Amino acid sequence: MNVPIARTSLLETEIQSVLEPLRTGWLVQGPKVREFEEKWSAFTGAEHSIAVTSCTTALHLSLAALGFGPGDEAIVPAFTWIATANVVEHLGGTVVFCDIDLATFNLDVSQLERLVTPRTRAILPVHLFGLSADMSAILAFAAKHKLAVVEDAACGFGARYKGRHVGTLGDTGCFSFHPRKAITTGEGGMITTNDAALAEKLRRLRDHGAAMSDLQRHLGARPYLLADHPDAGYNQRMTDLQAALGSAQMDRAQQIISERQRLAAVYDGAFEDLGWLRTAAKLEGYEHGYQSYPCLFQPEPVNMSSVLRVNAMRNEWMDKLQQRGISTRPATHAVHMLSYYREKYGLSPEDFPCAYVANHCSISLPLFHGMTEAEQAYVIDVVAEGFQ
Ligand SMILES: *Cc1c(COP(=O)(O)O)cnc(C)c1O
Repeated sequence: MNVPIARTSLLETEIQSVLEPLRTGWLVQGPKVREFEEKWSAFTGAEHSIAVTSCTTALHLSLAALGFGPGDEAIVPAFTWIATANVVEHLGGTVVFCDIDLATFNLDVSQLERLVTPRTRAILPVHLFGLSADMSAILAFAAKHKLAVVEDAACGFGARYKGRHVGTLGDTGCFSFHPRKAITTGEGGMITTNDAALAEKLRRLRDHGAAMSDLQRHLGARPYLLADHPDAGYNQRMTDLQAALGSAQMDRAQQIISERQRLAAVYDGAFEDLGWLRTAAKLEGYEHGYQSYPCLFQPEPVNMSSVLRVNAMRNEWMDKLQQRGISTRPATHAVHMLSYYREKYGLSPEDFPCAYVANHCSISLPLFHGMTEAEQAYVIDVVAEGFQ
């Protein structure tokens, strides 16, 4: 049997939905984009949702709208997808990495205070793999130092913190609709915010800095006059084809999340007694969205002295799983070890030991909507055989 790490699951009606904008001829930033944004706000509880071309552009636009620029520093977890750090570089800022807590794979909030300098302007907490970061601590820290909070909620769909959907806690939240995420539009992203003025600025910046969108102008009294451009904006508009696909999936949003949570619970139960495989943290007040199913491979305690030995064993196990038809991946990467950041900032692995260990000893197992009982039972059986 072959079990992929993820598989896109779209209903026939969702596939058909893409035809509608093709037939009406409104292809970009039109009524389907507005509909998708409205459903997103209703589901997450965010006051404003702004659709863009990816989570990366959502993060970039958020920082730009918040006035982040050259010389400013932003705190970013060392274990995340590289895009969280890249957007800081794109705006001429400086990335200040923070180590993670191995128990959650998220920011270790106990280390934040010592990273602050007079140039610190922003923090980008990541809700990695669908588990919220420790937002009470992060919001208190940000308020104390007057920092902007841009939540990287790329994996955060369905993730809740003390009852609130992630992405609605900071200044903005940024979501991804890449096919590896729970809802997909191929490429695509969404920004959420509860600040009306910021929302307006974000809408303007995504659309070349135009004071009024094409749709507003089209529906207004004088559609023949062009808008003013108060900003030198970007083009980060979502197409209506993408929005139609996203909007259609929102009609079964809760079901998509519940299905992922159900699959994760089956794994949790099956792996409970495997001392060598630690599954995702379950914490009071946190609802996991399970964008993926990240585990820590720990046949012995993992630390800086055992990490390379454990890494070799993990890779052998991943190889065995691959040969048995099961795709796995390291959960994500330690960004401080990627050559751009390592060389630019002169970093070494031990600067962020938990991120380094997570990079070398984490493993994500297949979890996706539409995974069959037989597929999951097969993964469980092969895992139960052990790693040797
Ligand atoms: C997927 C992901 C991104 C990038 O999202 P895109 O939509 O591909 O730009 C950023 N951050 C994290 C944590 C991610 O998982």
